[in-house]
Amino acid sequence: MKAAAFEYHRALQTQDALKLATGLAGGAKFIAGSQSLGPMLNLRLSRPSHLIDISDCKELRSVEYRNDIIRVGASITHAEIEDGVYEPLRGHPLQQVAARIAYRSVRNRGTIGGSIAHADPAADWVLASMALNANIEIMSAKAIRVVPMHQFMLAAYTTALADNEIISAIEFPVLSKQARWGYYKFCRKTGEFAEASCAVLFDSHARVARVVVGALDGTPAELPRIAEKVARSGLASLNLTDIIDALATIMPNKDLIDRRLYANAVWRSLELALGPVESI
Ligand SMILES: Cc1cc2nc3c(=O)[nH]c(=O)nc-3n(C[C@H](O)[C@H](O)[C@H](O)COP(=O)(O)OP(=O)(O)OC[C@H]3O[C@@H](n4cnc5c(N)ncnc54)[C@H](O)[C@@H]3O)c2cc1C
Repeated sequence: MKAAAFEYHRALQTQDALKLATGLAGGAKFIAGSQSLGPMLNLRLSRPSHLIDISDCKELRSVEYRNDIIRVGASITHAEIEDGVYEPLRGHPLQQVAARIAYRSVRNRGTIGGSIAHADPAADWVLASMALNANIEIMSAKAIRVVPMHQFMLAAYTTALADNEIISAIEFPVLSKQARWGYYKFCRKTGEFAEASCAVLFDSHARVARVVVGALDGTPAELPRIAEKVARSGLASLNLTDIIDALATIMPNKDLIDRRLYANAVWRSLELALGPVESI
C-alpha cells in the first residue's frame, strides 16, 4: 500500500516548524527519520494532510554538556550515537544501546527524539531513557518545558506531548566514574524489537540502584526490591527465582515461560553491569 496524499514541508528552524504546525492545525504531523511514521503512512494507519520534516532543524542537531547533564538533540540519529560522532557520547552507555537498534539502514535515519515521541513499549531509547533518569525537553511556540521520562510516557504509544509541541532534546544526567550500567535485549533476529529487555544502573556515588524492565505491554517498570537487594548484598545474593517472583508484580498476566525470559534479561543485564556470578 502507498501513503495517502500529503503536503511536505521542510523546516530548518524549530520555531518555523512550530509556527507551521499551528497554522496547519489538525492535519499536520512532524516527521524526523521516518522509520516509524513511514510504515504507518504506507499502511494508512496515519493519514496527515501535512508532514513537517524536522530532521534538519539546527537546534535539534547538537549534543553538548550543560552543567551535569548531556543534552542530546532530538534529531540526532541512532547511528550518530553509535559511532560516537559527538564527544560527550564517546564511551557512554548510549553508544551500546544505539548499536543494538534494528540494523544500520534504520539507524542511519531513525532519531532518538522520534523514538521517544513514538513511545513503542519495546523501543530501546524508551527503556534506556527511563533507566538513566532522563528528562525530555519539549518546545512549543511559546515555551520550553522539561518532563521526566517516567512522566512523559503514559502508556504504549501515548505520551504527554501535545500536537503543537516538539521534543527538542533528551537530557541525560552525567554518570559518575563509579556508575555501572548493563543493558540486555532479547530478540530472536538482529534488527527486531525486543521480546524482553532490561537496563540496570548502579551508581554508589549518586546513590542510584535501578533495575528497569522493558518490552512490556505499557511503560517500562522498575524492580526496586531487586535493585536494593543487589546494591546491599551483591549479585551473588540473588537467584533467578527472586527475579521471577518480583516480575509477577509488574506482569501479572504473563505465564511462567514469559517471566523466565524476562528474568534472564534482568539477570544478564545485572551481570553485564556487575560482572559474572558463577551459578544462579
Ligand atoms: C525494520 C525496523 C526495525 C526497527 N527496530 C527497532 C528496534 O529494534 N528498536 C527500536 O527502538 N526501534 C526500532 N525501530 C524504530 C526506529 O528506531 C525508529 O527510528 C524510531 O522509532 C522513530 O524515529 P524516527 O526518527 O524514525 O521518527 P519518525 O518515524 O519520523 O516519527 C515517529 C513519530 O514521532 C513523531 N516525532 C518525530 N520526531 C519528533 C520530535 N522531535 N518531536 C515530536 N514528535 C516527533 C512523529 O510525528 C511520529 O509520530 C525499527 C524500525 C524499523 C523500520
